[in-house]
Amino acid sequence: MLVGVPKEIKNQESRVGLTPASVKELTLRGHQVMVQHNAGAAIGLTDEMYAGSGATIVATAEEIFAKAEMIVKVKEPQPQECAMLRENQILYTYLHLAPDPEQTKALVKSGAVCIAYETITGPNGGLPLLAPMSEVAGRMAIQAGAAHLEKSKGGMGLLLGGVPGVAPGQVAIIGAGVVGTNALQIAVGMGARVTVLDKNVDRLRQLDLVFGNRIQTMYSNAHTIDDAVTEADLVIGGVLVPGAAAPKLVTRSMVSRMKQGSVVVDVAIDQGGCFETSHATTHENPTFVVDGVVHYCVANMPGAVARTSTFALNNATIGHAVALADKGWAKAMKANPHLRNGLNVCQGHVTYEAVAHDLGYPY
Ligand code: NAD
Repeated sequence: MLVGVPKEIKNQESRVGLTPASVKELTLRGHQVMVQHNAGAAIGLTDEMYAGSGATIVATAEEIFAKAEMIVKVKEPQPQECAMLRENQILYTYLHLAPDPEQTKALVKSGAVCIAYETITGPNGGLPLLAPMSEVAGRMAIQAGAAHLEKSKGGMGLLLGGVPGVAPGQVAIIGAGVVGTNALQIAVGMGARVTVLDKNVDRLRQLDLVFGNRIQTMYSNAHTIDDAVTEADLVIGGVLVPGAAAPKLVTRSMVSRMKQGSVVVDVAIDQGGCFETSHATTHENPTFVVDGVVHYCVANMPGAVARTSTFALNNATIGHAVALADKGWAKAMKANPHLRNGLNVCQGHVTYEAVAHDLGYPY
């Protein structure tokens, strides 16, 4: 199959659909790969590396969209990319269609076969192509939170891990899923005192078994959240109710009673956020202050560490990319129902129930 990797054009996006190592996985199996000039240059993946893995470097996205049988990307196609998609061409990328009627309309019109990373399921449940970005965001949340506790960033001037003779900071993590667990690991590693809250007691049991008395687990309700948040120096919001907007678990009143110069990192901001006081921010201007509390609410945290994120994403996407190239989309999906769950738009039809339902397409 002829596979194409265009350079990402969404604002501030430096990730790339395939790494040179992933290109090699495909070329070793006899597939051809076209990579746009400088597609990975911003994160140190040069044209020479891609050529060394057997890719052909091409000058423009137009050439890739005109020739490739499968396009591999990271972000949802922008309007000019949607316009270049062709009938039966495979598009393999994050799509996030439910809140995006314009993109959905354009993909339906294209007649392409559009597979969304975020709805591909895994044999053990979960969403394995979404998990690596939650791992990145969870780990980064503590890094970003610790940095913003510094005086120059608006924080109270606290070193999260403390020093001998001075107590470490207190971290509260709401949601013990992928984001929460990864945040927890880094916070514990930095020597912070950590409380983690979830409604799922089995998750808390698992964390208790692994971390023992190095952490405190709490069943999540309005009372425990109030206690944990008002005692904390750093609060991480990592809740998810699948298919729904994030619940506003931390109220304005709770924020107003938090310590001056404390920090909240609302990772769930891409689903609307779990703090009543949150609104989405960008890497250029990541924080704002409400009632003396620094809010970090960047909606695409993994974009800041685009190199790590690209490698982590490729680890999760390359298996299905190889299957699609080897077998073609129809046979690959017949062989693997989890990959079939990724099919969102196919040859002019919306084929993912939730998207069809939300946007009023027949299903
Ligand atoms: P996950 O499903 O692995 O974990 C979510 C956890 O929230 C679950 O354990 C669930 O039981 C818990 N939860 C649900 N309701 C709760 C409540 N009332 N109180 C406490 N816990 C509750 O999800 P995840 O992969 O960890 O993702 C978490 C959020 O982070 C999602 O909204 C995801 O989209 C977002 N995210 C954001 C970025 C970013 O750049 N901002 C990056 C990756 C993920």
